[in-house]
Amino acid sequence: MIDVRAIAVTRATRVREALAVLDRAASGILLLVDAGGRFERTITDGDLRRLLLEGHGLDATLQALPVMRSIVIDSAYSRRDALDLMNRHSINHLPVVDAAGHAVEVLERRAIDQQILLSVPHMGMAEREYVEEAFRSNWIAPLGPNVDAFERELAQMLGVGHAAALSSGTAAIHLALRLLGVGPGDRVFCSTLTFVASASPIVYQGAEPVFIDSEPHSWNMSAAALGRAFDAAVKAGRLPKAVVVVNLYGQSADLDPLRALCDRHGVPIVEDAAESLGARYKGRASGTGGRIGVFSFNGNKIITTSGGGMLVSDDAALVERARFLATQARDPALHYQHSEIGYNYRMSNILAGVGRGQLKVLDERVAARRAVFERYREGLADLPALQWMPEPPWSFSTRWLTACTLDPRSTRMSAQAFVARLGAELIEARSLWKPMHLQPLFAHCEYFSHGDASVSDRLFASGLCLPSGSNLSGAQQQRVIDTMRSILRGG
Ligand SMILES: *Cc1c(COP(=O)(O)O)cnc(C)c1O
Repeated sequence: MIDVRAIAVTRATRVREALAVLDRAASGILLLVDAGGRFERTITDGDLRRLLLEGHGLDATLQALPVMRSIVIDSAYSRRDALDLMNRHSINHLPVVDAAGHAVEVLERRAIDQQILLSVPHMGMAEREYVEEAFRSNWIAPLGPNVDAFERELAQMLGVGHAAALSSGTAAIHLALRLLGVGPGDRVFCSTLTFVASASPIVYQGAEPVFIDSEPHSWNMSAAALGRAFDAAVKAGRLPKAVVVVNLYGQSADLDPLRALCDRHGVPIVEDAAESLGARYKGRASGTGGRIGVFSFNGNKIITTSGGGMLVSDDAALVERARFLATQARDPALHYQHSEIGYNYRMSNILAGVGRGQLKVLDERVAARRAVFERYREGLADLPALQWMPEPPWSFSTRWLTACTLDPRSTRMSAQAFVARLGAELIEARSLWKPMHLQPLFAHCEYFSHGDASVSDRLFASGLCLPSGSNLSGAQQQRVIDTMRSILRGG
């Protein structure tokens, strides 16, 4: 940071001295102040060079400098305001001037234009080697040895029978529903508090989603709401074909009571574990608690192949059929023959190489994300306005994203306003997922809430996710913490 006192000069300062100060401070800029210390204008080395070229000597004073209004910003600035101003005027330094007219700070572009993102890819050491092996052997195709190995290694790590590597998590959910026979006119129960990709494949299959609320202890599917949805379905004589249970932000749903309900009605569970790879439920790997489990390796997930997904199950025949449908459902014939509709949903051998490398560092990534969460919780523990996503005793969460809620009893700020304020400081935070039953797309769909009040509505109104990458530096996280503190203090 630039010391404003060290670079202040007056009209009485000589050019020689001004050049020396500029040289010493290596700030690229001087501040011309009046006798009362009030800021007048900035001076660059170009300004001093022009004085000399105009014939003023090194012993001339800065009296010769033209009067000029420099671009400044007031103390209540946001980083985004400051950066916009710098861009508009093509400048790299911006003095901050207080109400009394004193320069209190000089902003430098390279110090303030650093954006802190929500969750970015974090490569390990081995990914490149697997990708290069694919190049060396010319396996630049969908399928190949990396795909087979990635499936094997993931299944082994999770303790699940079989896995099929696919082009995305969305494709995996779509295939899961297709495998379970979901078709036109069917109904599928689905967690409401989730990303749209949990529900869109229901519509791909021509079926109708019915949304189920969260419970407050894990933020995941409420057994009370699911129970009432089943009661209503029994009464209407229309049981769902499947239940999509989502594990939010790295935390498993409380599966036992959900499974008991589904088993009673003979309805299979698709566990959407796109956000919870590496998490555990009562010691068991997340994503292995339903008939079919689904993972995503999208760029923002805890490990990534840039894009990709996985479908897992203990049922070998089911996973084999997933592979068949994912490769255009080609019949076993010498020519191209098809008896049913398939998809082009397989993962490429190159991306599977990235996935194999990422799998090796999954445990480290989980530990790093959990440490990020703990630093937030400790660093902001004294602020009663912040409440953290709970982790029930049966859960081992990866804390894929650190999620918190603003307590309306302690602050009047909405989650959306808070996210916008952080955004103005170039910190990418996000509201919690907007529940599916509140989406225009699904306005006509049925919804069952946890109790009289909807838990997911409350979470959406008050909740947000903070930058949580496993490669978030200590200094970056401190900046987020300091900024949150100052926003909450100010209002
Ligand atoms: C990311 C995500 C998906 C979709 O995964 P893609 O690989 O992006 O298609 C599905 N469900 C949830 C809950 C997700 O977070």
